Amino acid sequence: MHVAVLGAGVIGVTTAYALAKRGCKVTIFDQASSIASGASFANGAQISYSFVDPMASPAMLKKIPAILLGKDPNIKQKPSLEPAHLRWGAYFLGNCTEPKATSNLENAISLALESRAAFQDLLAAHSISFRYRQSGKLVVTRDKATLARMHHAAKIKTKRGIEARVLSAQECWQVEPKTEPHYRDIVGGIYAPGDYVGDARRFTKALAQICIDDYGVDILLKQKVFGLATDSGNVIGIRTDDGVFSVDKVVVCMGAASAKFLSPYNIPLLIEPVKGYSFTIPANDEAPSCSLTDADHKIVFARLHSEMRIAGLADFDGDDMSLKEDRLATLKSFAERLLPNIGDYGHSGTGWVGARPMTPDGLPITQATKVNNLYLNTGHGMLGWTLACGSAERIVEIMMQRHAGSIHLKRATQ
Ligand SMILES: Cc1cc2nc3c(=O)[nH]c(=O)nc-3n(C[C@H](O)[C@H](O)[C@H](O)COP(=O)(O)OP(=O)(O)OC[C@H]3O[C@@H](n4cnc5c(N)ncnc54)[C@H](O)[C@@H]3O)c2cc1C
Repeated sequence: MHVAVLGAGVIGVTTAYALAKRGCKVTIFDQASSIASGASFANGAQISYSFVDPMASPAMLKKIPAILLGKDPNIKQKPSLEPAHLRWGAYFLGNCTEPKATSNLENAISLALESRAAFQDLLAAHSISFRYRQSGKLVVTRDKATLARMHHAAKIKTKRGIEARVLSAQECWQVEPKTEPHYRDIVGGIYAPGDYVGDARRFTKALAQICIDDYGVDILLKQKVFGLATDSGNVIGIRTDDGVFSVDKVVVCMGAASAKFLSPYNIPLLIEPVKGYSFTIPANDEAPSCSLTDADHKIVFARLHSEMRIAGLADFDGDDMSLKEDRLATLKSFAERLLPNIGDYGHSGTGWVGARPMTPDGLPITQATKVNNLYLNTGHGMLGWTLACGSAERIVEIMMQRHAGSIHLKRATQ
C-alpha cells in the first residue's frame, strides 16, 4: 500500500513512521523547504501527558466577555463574521459545560496514555537526540478557584494512573526552588513528576531521517499540494505543481491548513488557527529545571539544555499568520516580569509565531472520511507534540482497518 502523507510537521512525520513501520510505502509532501516548519518549529517544548486539559471549560466560558472586549492580554480575538469562525465558536461554547469538559478530558487522557506508550517504544527502538528530559511539570496559580479546578482534574488523572499532585505554595517552592523569590503570590499548584520536555523540531527532523534511512520513506519538500485526484468518488492521488501523484491512500496532516484544504471536498472540519508565540534565550543558573506553567498568564517555561523556551498567547487572527512584534513584546515582558533572572532576555532574533490547529473540543481529528482512501490526522491544537505518537498509531490502526468503529469514527466530522 502506497500512502501520501500531506504535511511534514510532527504529526505528518510520526504518521509516516507508524505507516512505514507496518510495511507501507510512504511519501511525505510539504510545501515548505524544510521539515517541521509550521507549528512544530519552536513550540512550548512540553511533552505533558499529565496536562491535556481542553481549553473549553466552564471557567473559560466566564472569561469570554473579557476576551471579546479585548481586555484579556493573553488571548486576542480579531472580530470576524466568517461562517466557519462563528461555527467553530458555537461548538466551542457547546464544549464549555462541566460534563463536556470532563468527557473531553477523559478522552484526551486516553490518547495521552497511548502517546506516552508509543513514544517510549519509538525511543527504545531509535536513538534520537532532541534535548529530551524528564523534567516534571509544575503548574502554578494565584487563584483559589483555579486551584480547586486543578484539584478536581487531578482526581480524574490519578484515577487513570497519572501522577498529578496538588501542592500548597510552599510545596511548589520546594519542588522548584528557583520559583520561590518570584512566585510569593501563588496559592498553590499541581505537579506531575512524570512529564517531559523536548525540542519538537529536532525530534521531527531526526525521525524524518530515520524514516528515509531505515524505512525508505520519500520526503518531497517545496511541493505544495493543491488538491486530491479522485475517480468515481475514490481518492486515487494528489495534485501538485508536477501533476498528479498516484497513491492508494492519503492522510491529511496539514495542521492549521487542513480545514481550507478539505473544504472543496465537502469535508467541513472545525479547525481554527490559534496563533501562539515563543522565544528562546540563553539560560543561566537561575533558570528552573522543572517545566513550569503559569496558569494565570498562560505562559510556559521549558529548559532545553542551555536555553529557555518560553511560549504563550492565543490569538484568533484568521488567516493572518504574521508575527506581530507588539504581541511578541507582550509575551517577553510578561515572562521577564514573572521570572526576571533566568537568562538573557535581551538576546534577539529568536521570536517565533505558530498556528495551533484548534478543534472546539480540544481533541484531534483522527479518523477516516466519507471519501474512500482519505484519512485525517489533524487538529491537535495546543497538544500536538504531546499527542503525536498516539494519534499516529490510532490513524494507522484505522487505516489498517483494525480500529473501525472506535470512538473517533463515532465522532461526527464537524
Ligand atoms: C506557541 C505554541 C506553543 C505550543 N506548545 C506546545 C507544547 O508545549 N506541547 C505540545 O504538545 N504542543 C504544543 N503546541 C502545539 C503543537 O506545536 C502543534 O499541535 C503541532 O505542532 C501540530 O503539528 P502538525 O504537524 O499538525 O502541524 P504543523 O507542524 O503546522 O505541520 C503542518 C505542515 O503542513 C504543511 N502544509 C500545509 N498546507 C500544505 C499544502 N497545501 N501542501 C503541502 N504542505 C502543506 C505545512 O507547511 C506544515 O509543515 C504549541 C503550539 C504553539 C503555536
